[in-house]
Amino acid sequence: MTEKPASRKPENLDQDQFLTILSREEALARFEAALFPRSITGEPRQLAAALGCALSEDVMAPIDVPPFDRSNVDGFAVRSSDLASAGEAAPVRLRLNDEVIACGVAPQRPVLSGTATAIATGGPLPRGADAIVMVEHTQPCGSRAIDVRRATSPGQFVASAGSDIARGEALLRAGTVVGSREIGMLAACGIAEISVARKPRVAVLSTGDELVQPGEPLPAAAIYDTNGAIVAAAIDENGGEAHFLGAIPDDEAALETAMRKALLESDMLVLSGGTSKGAGDVSHRIIGRLGKPGIIAHGVALKPGKPLCLAVCDGKPVVILPGFPTSAMFTFHDMVVPVLRRMAGLPPRSDATVSAKVPVRIASELGRTEFVMVSLIEGAGGLIAYPSGKGSGAITSFAQADGFLKIDALADQMPAGTQTEVTLFTPHVRVPDLVVVGSHCTGLDLVTAPLAHAGLTVRSIAVGSLGGLAAAKRGECDLAPIHLFDDRSETYNTPFLSDGLELVPGWRRMQGIVFRKGDARFEGRTAEGAVRSALADPACIIVNRNQGAGTRILIDRLLGEARPDGYWNQPRSHNAVAAAVAQHRADWGMTIAPVAHASHLGFIPLAEEHYDFALVKARRQRPAVQAFLDALASEEGRAALTKAGFRPA
Ligand code: AMP
Ligand code: MG
Repeated sequence: MTEKPASRKPENLDQDQFLTILSREEALARFEAALFPRSITGEPRQLAAALGCALSEDVMAPIDVPPFDRSNVDGFAVRSSDLASAGEAAPVRLRLNDEVIACGVAPQRPVLSGTATAIATGGPLPRGADAIVMVEHTQPCGSRAIDVRRATSPGQFVASAGSDIARGEALLRAGTVVGSREIGMLAACGIAEISVARKPRVAVLSTGDELVQPGEPLPAAAIYDTNGAIVAAAIDENGGEAHFLGAIPDDEAALETAMRKALLESDMLVLSGGTSKGAGDVSHRIIGRLGKPGIIAHGVALKPGKPLCLAVCDGKPVVILPGFPTSAMFTFHDMVVPVLRRMAGLPPRSDATVSAKVPVRIASELGRTEFVMVSLIEGAGGLIAYPSGKGSGAITSFAQADGFLKIDALADQMPAGTQTEVTLFTPHVRVPDLVVVGSHCTGLDLVTAPLAHAGLTVRSIAVGSLGGLAAAKRGECDLAPIHLFDDRSETYNTPFLSDGLELVPGWRRMQGIVFRKGDARFEGRTAEGAVRSALADPACIIVNRNQGAGTRILIDRLLGEARPDGYWNQPRSHNAVAAAVAQHRADWGMTIAPVAHASHLGFIPLAEEHYDFALVKARRQRPAVQAFLDALASEEGRAALTKAGFRPA
């Protein structure tokens, strides 16, 4: 923060040194220094209930495993010295002792020289014996003796006591997460109960007047509380025990009450929202009153996540994550997970990394370490990392990415073609079977549904028609969905194809004028008539489209020289146009029929837009591409498109 808080209470004075932006390394180091070392509380757990818990102390083996020397095969316990001269031509005859050592039977008789005792796999070695001869290597000689035709060495087929686990050895170390293999080792030693680290209890609060919980109706200007659910889940994933306490309005007194109560009942408190300089941002002020030392870092040179606030109140970490979900999640994983895992007695998380090439230039802000979420696809020369174009306000930037790359604080960009390291969100790269890069359409999901159901993974990266064409030319995708109108030839898509690409016709999307049902300026009119009456009413507001959109060309033709109010509102998607009209921010615009109908809006059809696919010829034979082409041509696919309001080509 560069701004001083408006009201500086005396108890906040000693925090002023922190009201500067710290590097992420410095912020994390100060946060950890204020919290650690601290003791981990252990609690007893029955073995069966310990799955997924971290051991709070080292476990030493209380016994030898196996507890006695035992036979690894079915055969005869012998003295190896008796068989030193045995061979194919010179069998040695051994007299059988009068017992059979089965599993669980303690031997009674010694094996004296010249004798053998029958023994089963797992049977304890009798006194005097030092080796086992496999039953296959012997011949019975009557019922009282055997002939052995090969020599045997001392210790053969014997598992000696403690050879698996030695009494007193460190079986498992503190911090080990108990999985099935660990449970197996503990059970082998007879351990029924272990001491595991008590999971830190973490209270989660969302803040904001605009937040509504999932399941509730969504009033105007409200949004669903995304962070509450995702933060709580991520806490559980990293060894904590999350307690979600709901969303609190931006009211200082209410928030302080909620924070105090949460902190009293928990080991840690994680809030989201309210860290920026908006009018309602109060939580960081409250922290100063909750306990010592208070705020450790408010403002970290990190993108996304600059407004992150880290604090420690009387030994308990208090964190305020940025409000935007992707920023919240990113900073949580980067700055909070290390601390949470340490408190939970878990080892640091080790994330897998891969090397990948960046196909486009990524601009970056100087002075902040920038993390860019990327989707990975397999290119001709290795992995390619596509930056997610949606920004930190979008939940999908984080949730649908494969990982992230890092741009140094001192760099203002990452040039196209850079080979860089990508930290994965999953243990392995998930290389998709079909890669679709270009303009997104809800119809696409209908066509790819059978592929997904057949176990093929489809990665669709929305970068717009031109971005898709560029990717297709570089051979980075299988298909590029495009809807580009060529003014000169008055045709769609074909004029934009280059060598190596072929056109696969997709479907037609009826474009037209969208308006609220019952609006007499539009209802029942032709497109030209509707535009005339809209232009005749100075209070009538249009929502336009961005330059370059096929739809925009239609709008400009309809308007001629007219520039009605709203002309400069130029969103980039069909859905944004429908939302503007539905929410009365505009009265009319141009969108496609399925989107207008989904929003229950009136619609005057005007002209069809061609949504086709530029197919990379060299990839046509790939099984997933074939499956896509089949799905596109199938009766089911065409019926699904038609039902949704598209017209298959
Ligand atoms: P703030 O830091 O409170 O100003 O929030 C920044 C942005 O994040 C605003 O657009 C908020 O609506 C949004 N935001 C804050 N909290 C949440 C949440 N729990 N879920 C989804 N979005 C949120
Ligand atoms: Mg807020």
